[in-house]
Amino acid sequence: MRFDRHAFEAKGHLVVPGFIDLHAHLREPGFEDSETIETGRRAALRGGFTTICAMPNTEPPIDSPGLVKELLGRGHGVNGARVHYVATITRGRKGRELADMVELAAAGAVAFSDDGSPVQDPRLFRSALEYARVTGRPVIEHPEDLALSAKGVMHEGTVSARLGLPGIPAAAEETAVARDIALARMTGARLHLTHLSTGGSIDLVRRAKADGLPVTCDVTPHHLAMTDEWVAGSRALAWEVEDEALRAGPYESSTKVNPPLRGRADVRALWAGLVDGTVDAIATDHAPHASVKKEVEFDQAAFGISGFETAVALVLGGVGVHWAALGTVIDALTVGPARVLGIEVPRDDWTVIDRDAEWIVRADEMASKGKNTPLIGRTLTGRVVATVVGGEVAYEGEARVTEAISRR
Ligand SMILES: [Zn+2]
Repeated sequence: MRFDRHAFEAKGHLVVPGFIDLHAHLREPGFEDSETIETGRRAALRGGFTTICAMPNTEPPIDSPGLVKELLGRGHGVNGARVHYVATITRGRKGRELADMVELAAAGAVAFSDDGSPVQDPRLFRSALEYARVTGRPVIEHPEDLALSAKGVMHEGTVSARLGLPGIPAAAEETAVARDIALARMTGARLHLTHLSTGGSIDLVRRAKADGLPVTCDVTPHHLAMTDEWVAGSRALAWEVEDEALRAGPYESSTKVNPPLRGRADVRALWAGLVDGTVDAIATDHAPHASVKKEVEFDQAAFGISGFETAVALVLGGVGVHWAALGTVIDALTVGPARVLGIEVPRDDWTVIDRDAEWIVRADEMASKGKNTPLIGRTLTGRVVATVVGGEVAYEGEARVTEAISRR
């Protein structure tokens, strides 16, 4: 069906350019029980994302030009988002030798990343940046000092102490960000730091940008909306007052994510970074997992939150309390990531949002195979009612406005 913009606007809906997600996990090849390209593309559309970038931590990892080409040939069903592929920085994503970055870019890789892991060896990372500069494609780095994060499973702070869980200190991210920026300064390469979660990281990027370095960064909807109190059972979004009736039990593995949910001051610092332009993009880090990987003890569970389908509601929540303007977050979901990736915003891709729709997050209504989100059962406000790819309505859902929804 051709998109009729006026019909949606007449209903009071907001029509904005289709969202671009520069960081998502589609799990194919290798982990199709968690997600496939097709289920991921459909879940993306439900979340308003018309273009997504798939990370290469698959099995095999996306480290060969042949695999990039093969994957680009898959997943062209009409009811799905456009997909770009990010190739690995190192061969086998093992962090020992560089992948054939020039050939990978020629095959169509949109960026490079060993996401899930940082490139630990600084000399190797320096070479990676130098090769990336030749290709004109950015390096998307997952900044983490693995020696500092060690066996940590949540943010290191008062909540981890209370719960008796090993923590991941803010410094595990910030020392990595500082190293990466120093190497970007040295090489002049385009460095993109993904899923930044601490105020200290944002400060480092702010300074790097002030120095004129080609450094960019993104933050995720879950880090913008949730704190480490969620691991202890809170289900209040960062701008809401604590509600006893909403509380869940502690140690729910759906709250386990890397980088971890941080403290309130960090959450506010991420929003401040969005507002002053330090943060270029909002990226979901959509990380679906089959239930077997999550239905285990907290410290054994896989890291990651299934993020496509709740992203808009979380981000609009912060807009609702004036932590950022609507235009700021829409830019961070559209032109911001396009600029980071060096791609055009597709001209006839649109996302239609009902900002007032209240809905309950239900596992059986998610298109993603990964139901791993601590938002299951929560009422959220703001929902995607239609997504348009190339001028055709590729997804249309019902915005079920406040019908007999109790906050339970
Ligand atoms: Zn990562």
